[in-house]
Amino acid sequence: MTLFEKIIARQIPAQIVHETDRAIAFRDIHPVAPVHVLVVPKRPLRNTAEASPEDEALLGHLMLVAAEVARAEGIAGSGFRIVVNNGSHAGQTVDHLHLHVLGGRALGWPPG
Ligand code: 5GP
Repeated sequence: MTLFEKIIARQIPAQIVHETDRAIAFRDIHPVAPVHVLVVPKRPLRNTAEASPEDEALLGHLMLVAAEVARAEGIAGSGFRIVVNNGSHAGQTVDHLHLHVLGGRALGWPPG
């Protein structure tokens, strides 16, 4: 069971900001921006590379949840970033797909 499955099951506490039938959004425990929320599918999927055509609707749902979170957090107008780290070179540390929703300050580009 991944860490995020335990959060979904309420076995580990988290600051949940949004929830749907297929996804949950909660604040990152080590925020790197004033707003840093993780959007996570309830069905475990390791990362984008392991997604299949049957995941198409779920992936779209996650993007819409991320946008909803951005609006609710008041960063949709100022701008925000949606990041998915896939695998070790990208820095993925939790093997359960998640979208980082980052905002509340100007974000540098390109990432280091
Ligand atoms: P990744 O590096 O896999 O893209 O992102 C994993 C994220 O999960 C990191 O930003 C990390 O701070 C966050 N994280 C790790 N453990 C916990 C936890 O127990 N609770 C919450 N809310 N976030 C966590």
